[in-house]
Amino acid sequence: MIPDWGAERQHMVDRQLRRRGIRSARVLNAMLTIPREEFVPVESRVCSYRDEPVQIGYGQTISQPYMIALMAELLELTGTETVLEVGGGSGYHAAVLGVLAARVISLELIPALARQAQQNLLRTGRASNIQVVCGDGSQGWREGAAYDGISVAAGAPAVPPALVEQLKDPGRLVIPVGARADQELRVIVKSGGRLEERVATGCRFVPLRGDGGWR
Ligand code: SAH
Repeated sequence: MIPDWGAERQHMVDRQLRRRGIRSARVLNAMLTIPREEFVPVESRVCSYRDEPVQIGYGQTISQPYMIALMAELLELTGTETVLEVGGGSGYHAAVLGVLAARVISLELIPALARQAQQNLLRTGRASNIQVVCGDGSQGWREGAAYDGISVAAGAPAVPPALVEQLKDPGRLVIPVGARADQELRVIVKSGGRLEERVATGCRFVPLRGDGGWR
């Protein structure tokens, strides 16, 4: 029997997001718009709307829906922004950001995943304002800088300075920082030439690799 994906998506939004405090109508709408099952490998599709990360191959995962919604909400996007995503994986998180911002650049280190993300975005009709780039996002992406928002989907040992430099003023950076196994989700706001930082929650992401990541 083919699952009723629309019903599962609605259920996910009500039970996992609304109930846990995601308030932004734009974010809830984006999470209702993007078919998560299209970004999950066929063999794991039944797990698409579970309250947990899903394996996407190469030891990587798509984050739990709640974490993606929370990170998107923390960026406070209005629809006019250019956003850099570091750790594109399946392309799902980029697709959600694509509903919320004018333009998204998604950097992915593993070539096969970058290709997969591109295909997923094309197949779901989400590729028009999203550019997938294969490369080390721990250094950001100078060609497209500066960014109104930067969202990092892998855990960093420390905030890479290049990402703070490539943030516009005003701009917001959301990034998991800490140990390899668990991190804190930090929100760094650049405004009036100053940086303000706070911790939103604890979290567990796969490690950020590359120059500004784990060796
Ligand atoms: N946001 C993704 C899942 C992120 S998993 C989704 O929606 O599916 C974290 C991803 O970060 C993995 O795909 C991993 O290959 C990638 N990654 C790790 N270090 C990176 C780096 N330095 N630059 C770019 N991508 C990186």
